[in-house]
Amino acid sequence: MAELPEKMTELLKLLKMTNTTEIDCDAFWEKAAELSERETLDADDLKDYLHHLQLCPGCAEQFALLKAVIDGHNDNDSI
Ligand SMILES: [Zn+2]
Repeated sequence: MAELPEKMTELLKLLKMTNTTEIDCDAFWEKAAELSERETLDADDLKDYLHHLQLCPGCAEQFALLKAVIDGHNDNDSI
């Protein structure tokens, strides 16, 4: 028999608390600049970063656009 839904919400709350640190959009783009300059990447840093990308459609969209611009630039620019 299924347990009470109450227990489920409690579990979800716990999961949320143990989840990676939430970063906001500003922190996300700051991090993007920071990470692009680094030679070695920290797994924990990347985790927070990708976590935000999954949670925030706005940043995900901008990120995809940025990537498309960079990719397109590489294709068209024959230097
Ligand atoms: Zn965002």
